[in-house]
Amino acid sequence: MAMESEAKTFIDTFNFDKCIKTSPYGFKNYHLKNNNYEINLFVGESDKKFNVQSVGTVPSAIAVDQMIRSFSPDLIINAGTAGGFKSRGANIGDVYIINSTQFHDRRIEIPGYAEYGRYFLKHENDFYKKIKKQLNLKSGLLSTGDSLDYIDTDKKLVEGREASVKDMEGAAIAWTCYHNQIPAVFIKSITDIVDGPYSTVDEFLLNLQEASQNLSKALIRLIEGGCI
Ligand code: SAH
Repeated sequence: MAMESEAKTFIDTFNFDKCIKTSPYGFKNYHLKNNNYEINLFVGESDKKFNVQSVGTVPSAIAVDQMIRSFSPDLIINAGTAGGFKSRGANIGDVYIINSTQFHDRRIEIPGYAEYGRYFLKHENDFYKKIKKQLNLKSGLLSTGDSLDYIDTDKKLVEGREASVKDMEGAAIAWTCYHNQIPAVFIKSITDIVDGPYSTVDEFLLNLQEASQNLSKALIRLIEGGCI
């Protein structure tokens, strides 16, 4: 999870050990083990230099790499908030499970590099199928970029492969998992409407708490419902 605000209800509900480890990048690692499963929760708690939460592709790819190297997990779950596209049926507070990921802000116009830049990957693994069915979630393509806004140049780059959901981490986490051959599941709760009339920042701040609670509820059902 990128932000501690997104993770709070989830941490409070389960009996996680207090943060067991921090890393040079400021990630916090909470741990939980019982007879059925072991969970290591990583939260991008705080950037050392700017004292805000570590959102975006670089911290998330490094965090997942650290998790893989430390714990050899069977599954990586990226849970977080995201923007939604109303043109593709998204509403504030909806929770999505992601069927595929791509980047929308990696422009490399050298032959062969366009597809590398977009890095489209599918994630319809067995976990995805089970969770989607059991939790009855909406599903769609997640598009990732390192900016909260969405400019015309970004839109042009992904023409023909329009996303339902937009965030700042998913495709980077997908890249790390792909290279390590670890299945990934992406659960995203909608804080703001990308193609709507309101400012993303205002909508994000207004809806962060509701979306985070919906996200936590979905995660709790996912874990307690025996999906993993
Ligand atoms: N002011 C916020 C900034 C968080 S950045 C704060 O510090 O509390 C937004 C986070 O929410 C990122 O982790 C990103 O993945 C997600 N997000 C929500 N809506 C988004 C959108 N419309 N576009 C991209 N990312 C979005």
